[in-house]
Amino acid sequence: MPAPLTGGCLCGAIRYAIDASVSELRACHCTNCQKISGAGGTVNALVESKDFKLLQGSPKRFTKTADSGRVLHRYFCGDCGSGLYSQRDITPERVVVRAGGFDNPPPMKVTAHIWTRSARPWDYIDPASHQVAGQPD
Ligand SMILES: [Zn+2]
Ligand SMILES: [Zn+2]
Repeated sequence: MPAPLTGGCLCGAIRYAIDASVSELRACHCTNCQKISGAGGTVNALVESKDFKLLQGSPKRFTKTADSGRVLHRYFCGDCGSGLYSQRDITPERVVVRAGGFDNPPPMKVTAHIWTRSARPWDYIDPASHQVAGQPD
């Protein structure tokens, strides 16, 4: 069993661990992810909720209906504002964790891009990656 993947926010108030191996990441270019990141979107690891454990702190939650029409809870640090993870109302068994929060991740690759139809023209999308114009099923 490899050491769990750990991560947290910029100020250190929130800490978490993921008890699963993550090698593939998914970039989301939806307009909500652009606003909340102040960048081209978010890059995420999709993990099962049972493998995700908060070690320290209590993230704040912001809930909004996503571009897909689904209700999405976005969790972030109330002190430093770092985005941490999100969870859909209808799929509590899955957590979508922002990959930029990982401490010392093993090699990972963005293998899929979603919501490419709203991608910013300056954001790079690997042509070899799997691409979905909107929300994948
Ligand atoms: Zn923080
Ligand atoms: Zn998004």
